[in-house]
Amino acid sequence: MSSQEVSFPIGGNMVHNITLIPGDESGPEIMAEAKRCLDATGVNIAWEVVDAGLGALDEKGTPLPKEVLDSIERNRVALKGPLTTPSGGGYRSVNVQLRHHFNLYANVRPCKTIKGIKGAVQGVDIVVIRENTEDLYAGIEFKEGKESTRKLIELVRNYLGKEIAPDAGITLKPLSRGASRRIAHFAFNYAEDNKRKKITVVTKATIMKCTDGLFYEETKKVAQVYPSLELEHLLVDSACFKLVSSPQQFDLVLTPNLYGDIISDLCAALVGGLGMAPAVNLGDGYAIFEAVHGSAPQFKGKQELNPCALILSGTMMLDYLGEREAACRLQGAVEAVVKEGRYVTRDLNPRTYVSTREMTDRIIYFLGKEGRHE
Ligand code: NAD
Repeated sequence: MSSQEVSFPIGGNMVHNITLIPGDESGPEIMAEAKRCLDATGVNIAWEVVDAGLGALDEKGTPLPKEVLDSIERNRVALKGPLTTPSGGGYRSVNVQLRHHFNLYANVRPCKTIKGIKGAVQGVDIVVIRENTEDLYAGIEFKEGKESTRKLIELVRNYLGKEIAPDAGITLKPLSRGASRRIAHFAFNYAEDNKRKKITVVTKATIMKCTDGLFYEETKKVAQVYPSLELEHLLVDSACFKLVSSPQQFDLVLTPNLYGDIISDLCAALVGGLGMAPAVNLGDGYAIFEAVHGSAPQFKGKQELNPCALILSGTMMLDYLGEREAACRLQGAVEAVVKEGRYVTRDLNPRTYVSTREMTDRIIYFLGKEGRHE
């Protein structure tokens, strides 16, 4: 079956100019499918395709060429495939660079069980909101053995009387009152707008009093402005235990950068895996939509990955663009295919599965069916 066999509702006249970054390794493979679905909704999108990551490094000598930044600056909205970050050495994460460059301070990662996924925990509906600019992700690092590192070690000894091993590398964890307040306001506003009732702030404030303690303090202050929303505080270890043992008690999780990264993968596992987990990075006037998962290099060219994480990021993008009806239709088509369970990728059904492309074909088929009934 191909998308050409079905007719689609005609979208509105409004043209949306969107930056499309295909990603690297297995990224372009799933991006092609997400793009097909979004085009099939009939929404009028003019894609501006720009390359970042390993491909751009090969061709242009940098993983983040200026034209990528210029394109996002112009269009304000981007759909991005996963980009590889070398472990240890090599260049700094392009994903993190983009978040910093456009001050995308809020990372929103919804995790909701779709009926029909074997092994998924039923009734999970959690949104993880992660502060996206600070914390150990700030990229402030001191390499082991360098003069600057030696000076920092000396400073810590002189001011705090604490010893750091001379062969240590050091990563700093800044958390500011301003950024903590900003993300707390974002999370409470999000909760109000999306009919969420409880915010669980997750920190390790008992140990990192100057950073996580400050984050929690600011959240408590902001909570006073939103008396109808319940606030609870959990330490990150206890939060992980409860997320696994009774995830249905969570509604919205608000947390600093690193815990948010970890917790959102944990939540993805609850609802069927990384193949089902969408995300958006939001700042004032800019938005980059992406899957939670990475570039899964071992799957490159195999047509085995689940395209839904990126497709669902696409539905979030449609919603953001004001194309709510198309977003609902695409979401409905994904849910229908997952529920049907016959044309899904290996992660959702290891016994009988189809390729990435075939699963997308089925989603587009359902999208067309729904469109015709309108
Ligand atoms: P990964 O998310 O790429 O893959 C981990 C595992 O999750 C895979 O082996 C696979 O089993 C599963 N998985 C991932 N995506 C899937 C999908 N669509 N369908 C089915 N299963 C899926 O994590 P990794 O291997 O730790 O990272 C690979 C690279 O991606 C690294 O360079 C990392 O830095 C980068 N990364 C990028 C982003 C991003 O672009 N925002 C996010 C995370 C990791």
